[in-house]
Amino acid sequence: MNTRLLHRSFRIMNSYINRGLRRPGKLSTKFSIKELKEEQDLKIKYLGAKEDELVSFVKFYLKNSTKSISSRFNNQLFSGHNKAALVGDLLAAVTNTTMATFEASPVGTLLEEELVDSINRIIGFTNKGNKGEGIMTTGGSQANMLALICARNNSIKECKNKGVYGESLVGFVSEDCHYSFAKMFNIIGIGSENLLKVKTDSNGQMDTLDLEKKIQTSVTHGKKPFFIGATAGTTVYGAFDPIDKVSKIAEKYNIYLHVDGAWGGPVIFSQKHFDLIKGIEKVDSFSMDAHKLLGVPLTATFFLVKKSGTLLSNFSEDNSEYLFHQDSNENINLGPKSIQCGRRVDALKVWFSWKAKGYSGLEQIVDKNINTMQCIVNYIKSVPELEIIKNPMYLNVCFRIKSNSNIPTQNSDLLKVRGRLIENNDFYINYSKDKNGLLFFRLIVLNLNTKLKEYYLLIDKILKYSRELVNTKNDTIIAT
Ligand SMILES: *Cc1c(COP(=O)(O)O)cnc(C)c1O
Repeated sequence: MNTRLLHRSFRIMNSYINRGLRRPGKLSTKFSIKELKEEQDLKIKYLGAKEDELVSFVKFYLKNSTKSISSRFNNQLFSGHNKAALVGDLLAAVTNTTMATFEASPVGTLLEEELVDSINRIIGFTNKGNKGEGIMTTGGSQANMLALICARNNSIKECKNKGVYGESLVGFVSEDCHYSFAKMFNIIGIGSENLLKVKTDSNGQMDTLDLEKKIQTSVTHGKKPFFIGATAGTTVYGAFDPIDKVSKIAEKYNIYLHVDGAWGGPVIFSQKHFDLIKGIEKVDSFSMDAHKLLGVPLTATFFLVKKSGTLLSNFSEDNSEYLFHQDSNENINLGPKSIQCGRRVDALKVWFSWKAKGYSGLEQIVDKNINTMQCIVNYIKSVPELEIIKNPMYLNVCFRIKSNSNIPTQNSDLLKVRGRLIENNDFYINYSKDKNGLLFFRLIVLNLNTKLKEYYLLIDKILKYSRELVNTKNDTIIAT
């Protein structure tokens, strides 16, 4: 039965992929737990299920998935479908081994090294006399945690063995940084209150004057600054903190500097837009997701550090001889550099994708999308009822209906319009909130399969549905 199950399931998945781009079915289906449970029996039973039931589950699952494969899926920081990466991912699943040792995953280890070395060369972590190093992680959140641990252990010499023991460390990020920093301050025992948020300016970039002021104030209060986290591509606005300027401050006060490039990191591949991360070669560590803009299946992230030996000195453990035998491959085992034991061969899907596209293909992803973003921004600016929230530096287009237009602008109106877009299968698009609690649309431009005219149509639909709300509101007034 298992062989046939595999064949039948593959056939169904294959047709999902073929239809996916233009006719994916509902972009999103039921949000109701009750309805989902009624449609398919999700309970595990004492006796195993028959092949037909399992095949019907495959169909159920595909039908009820959000269709990130579609060219109209712009809800999150990932979208689309990368066939080469999928082959790599399937290879990893079919061969099922771990990245812990070279012996267990010889080619996988070489692939991960090749990827890490490539990035390090591009960002200047590798240059005369310095090699740089890196490891793949389960995501940008974990990468941020690794950076924090390196910074913490750097600041408290005996920390690895003795812990934080009453040192009052403080770290700095911008107020628009990813929430994982606050989470990780808790997880690594420093406490989220010791993460200080630096103001951002009108572009959403970290205000370096405020950063320096906050560092000085914290020192006056007896705190020990140990970490600055700059962001290359903030999650909501896509802003890039001024890395060059921040690095001068980090150097002046001798503070570890990490750049979170989970979202915006891929600009390293673009000659035209590399300036967004100017100064990257001066920082201590850098992270970049391959599963966001670069479109490989979740999850695949790189954590890069400039100083060789950092990973081993922070993450290795002496009592793991059962796994890491002392043999001729000892130095190439990636396990001791990682916080994971069993680790999937994520390098395969990334390597496959990059090998297929080449650097030129990666550059195109960045350049073409930024170009498209600029066209969309111009289109929005040409509509008198719409306003852009912050001038985008990257691929996040944040906009809303102007408050002085005669179209409704309440938060509940925006949610209704978004609901209609999804219900009618027009577009799957997200929203966010500004400092005053006002919602705005947040369109992520990242799918090369999405045509410019589809984006224009989205804007038109938003206007249309918003205007229709005026009419329903008037109707209600008359009715009551
Ligand atoms: C998405 C994101 C993260 C988290 O990355 P995951 O891979 O989802 O864990 C971190 N930082 C920024 C700026 C992000 O946009």
